[in-house]
Amino acid sequence: MDKIFIKFVFCNLKEEQLKKLREHLADVYFSELDVSYFFFDIARAYNFKRNQYLADIILREAERFKKNPQEKWLLVVDVDLYASGLNFIFGQADPRSGIGIISLTRLKPEFYKQKPDEKLFLERILKEATHELGHLFYLPHCENPECVMSFSNSILDTDKKDSYLCLTCKHILRVYRGIKT
Ligand SMILES: [Zn+2]
Ligand SMILES: [Zn+2]
Repeated sequence: MDKIFIKFVFCNLKEEQLKKLREHLADVYFSELDVSYFFFDIARAYNFKRNQYLADIILREAERFKKNPQEKWLLVVDVDLYASGLNFIFGQADPRSGIGIISLTRLKPEFYKQKPDEKLFLERILKEATHELGHLFYLPHCENPECVMSFSNSILDTDKKDSYLCLTCKHILRVYRGIKT
């Protein structure tokens, strides 16, 4: 069975938040989880004009370290990410390499000049991590705005959606992983 690796790149979470993230992902993906730090050079992804990092480059660089195609890697960074044609992204995933990435930067209420809110911050992390991992398990975007696989254009969309898969996405995941319903 595919194993999920959460890799923190020059950032971390509080013990309690990490525990909740582990529990949540284990619950959604019924998979083994491994959490670690992964220090590798992401400087090549930095765009000085935008003061942002191009997610594609980080994913490609990380791929050089990934030997086992069965593994699903979710990188966690605390730098602002973008993708070609988009002002910013909360995360991105490449099912081919089995590597996804989420950024904590825009999940913090402080980013929107609001006061820090640990609970809200954690909720957003759970949602974005579940979303990008969903792509690694070949789930496409979902039309159901409450489903965690619905696309977030803004943090309002993220806050509106649930941290779990809808029944349809759950079914697709089970078929993909060969689990009988
Ligand atoms: Zn997506
Ligand atoms: Zn769905």
